[in-house]
Amino acid sequence: MKRIRLPDFTVAQVLDSCVESLRDEGLVLRLTAQVASLSFAEGDYNVKGAVAELYMIPESSSVEGQVTLEEMKSLYTNTLARKGSPARHIYDALRASAPGGICPLCSQRVVSTLDHHLAKSKHAVFTVTPLNLVPACKDCNTDSQARRPLEAGEQTLHPYFDSVDEVLWLVSQVLPGSPPVVRFMAVPPITWSEEKQSMVRQHFIVFKLGELYCTHAAVELINVYQDLVESSELRDAQQISMHLHSIANRRRRPFVNSWQAAMYQALAESDWFCSGGYLEISNSPLLQGL
Ligand SMILES: [Zn+2]
Repeated sequence: MKRIRLPDFTVAQVLDSCVESLRDEGLVLRLTAQVASLSFAEGDYNVKGAVAELYMIPESSSVEGQVTLEEMKSLYTNTLARKGSPARHIYDALRASAPGGICPLCSQRVVSTLDHHLAKSKHAVFTVTPLNLVPACKDCNTDSQARRPLEAGEQTLHPYFDSVDEVLWLVSQVLPGSPPVVRFMAVPPITWSEEKQSMVRQHFIVFKLGELYCTHAAVELINVYQDLVESSELRDAQQISMHLHSIANRRRRPFVNSWQAAMYQALAESDWFCSGGYLEISNSPLLQGL
């Protein structure tokens, strides 16, 4: 998970742009009358987000009983997210705020949408609030029960507020086999609070990062195999282990929790792998039929 900078827009600015394309004058009046309450809620979101207490915000089926959940969802879909609408530039700017266009929730796939951190099906008040709209890939844009936390530790990480990439927490393990499999686990440091440790584990599970990295690792293993069998310098298990260790160290320098670094470290530390287990990669289904 990557932390990204806070949005440059406020909910008041979003509403201003959204109502430009509305024809229902009654709705425009009801919406503009809610700018203050939505801005107040946005301030509360900012305070709670900074201390990982967004789970304490109650669900809302309307905005102050004046604008319904369905109207707010329609406002999002038919004005903010609609191509060509006056508000669409805000949607595009929020989506573009992820560095390199990479989804900050999985750090792997390409951003294609905005994810409502507090589900838009349950929080009328935060349907168009920029702080609640996180650039995301399609797979990470979920509205599942698993993302309706009842306590702090059940929350997933929020890219605008949470920072977990200074310290190593992603680790990996090689399962001997033909072919070998690389497994990933979230093991946060015990120096972190119970809640923060739990949030990292929850994020890892909800966004299926273990499965995602395992799939990528199976592809990377093909490269490892090719390098090892073609190298004339790597003659024994110790040399192979040192070679893999040096790759792990280089992969870790830019990104402490890179899955590649975790994988190469696990390979380097596996006696089975370094003393010939790597030859089993030749049985990878990815190499069959070539
Ligand atoms: Zn993603």
